[in-house]
Amino acid sequence: MNISMSSPDLTEADRQAVMNVINTPILSMGKYTADFEAAFCAYTGAKYAISVNSGTAGLHLCVRAAGLGAGDLVITTPFSFVASTNALLFENAIPIFVDVDPRTGNMNPELAAQAVKNIEPFLPRKGAEKHGNLKALLPIDVFGQPADMDAINKIAKEHHLKVIEDSCEALGATYQNRPAGRLGDFGIFAFYPNKQITTGEGGMIVTDDEQAAKLMRALRNQGRAPGDTWLQHTHLGYNYRIDEMSAALGASQMTRLETLLSKREQVAAWYEARLAEIPGVEAPFIASTTTRVSWFVYVIRFDPKISRDEMAKKLTARGIPVRPYFLPIHLQPYMVEKFGYRPGDFPITEDLGQRGLALPFSGVMTEDEVDYTCSVLREELTEG
Ligand SMILES: *Cc1c(COP(=O)(O)O)cnc(C)c1O
Repeated sequence: MNISMSSPDLTEADRQAVMNVINTPILSMGKYTADFEAAFCAYTGAKYAISVNSGTAGLHLCVRAAGLGAGDLVITTPFSFVASTNALLFENAIPIFVDVDPRTGNMNPELAAQAVKNIEPFLPRKGAEKHGNLKALLPIDVFGQPADMDAINKIAKEHHLKVIEDSCEALGATYQNRPAGRLGDFGIFAFYPNKQITTGEGGMIVTDDEQAAKLMRALRNQGRAPGDTWLQHTHLGYNYRIDEMSAALGASQMTRLETLLSKREQVAAWYEARLAEIPGVEAPFIASTTTRVSWFVYVIRFDPKISRDEMAKKLTARGIPVRPYFLPIHLQPYMVEKFGYRPGDFPITEDLGQRGLALPFSGVMTEDEVDYTCSVLREELTEG
């Protein structure tokens, strides 16, 4: 059995959508980009949707639109894909890490509230000597489950902070029946091939803030403000535009979003049922505030006595691709160098990072493949 770690879920209609674009001369900034954005406004209820060429680009534009700059402090978490923190570093803003909820891996709002009241104990050992004020919160909807956004928004409101919700793993998830990505001032989605929908590379920002939306549209297009000609650039901008092939693929995928999500839900349910019978591993925990998980990856957690790395080796050797999730951001070499972080600084993040393993997962995975993966896992766990 040849099982893949992840796989996009594409149809003939998706392929045809891309071909239709290639048969026209308009390969950038055309009708499909507008269609793709309209689909996001319709789905999320946002007033504005701005497509970009990656989730990382989307995060960066939100950091610019939120007015975050050198020395500004932003509370976020180290249990994430590096892009959520990197977007702050691009503008020399300073990420202030708080540890996560041990069950979900999402921002712990109590720690965020503590940091807001007294930031000193949360500052890194170095790299923040000349810090400015606290300006924003940047929670992540980890593995497709929304962070505890009511609690986070309450803190933000009391202290006049912006909220950037990194929903790059959570398209389609809901929190108290409200859509992920719409729970802060800005939400960002991403469309790399392992995400819920794909455009190859791509991302989308959603917001209700008209001024910010205008600025982000200009910044993604080399800083051209409305009325600028091709060679006039009001702002220091970027080329973060999505191309028409990607946008057409994204728009086509959006018409099937419900199907894509429910196929992933089915695969997650197959896993959950089987994992309940395997000692030594836990299936993902679902918070009571999560009214719908949008399954992004399927990350199991081993008992502390079991070596995750040994298990990963054994599974790989038997043809089951797996991936540790996440290697904590604060322990990445450039973060250690810049801010002086050490192992032990964020114990819950580190513990989750040491015990978590993503199993093969996608909407096109079959029940047989889930069966095989779980039977190999069970064998390896009960033999050792
Ligand atoms: C996928 C992802 C991103 C964005 O990734 P890109 O590869 O730039 O599209 C950002 N944050 C998180 C948490 C992600 O999982």
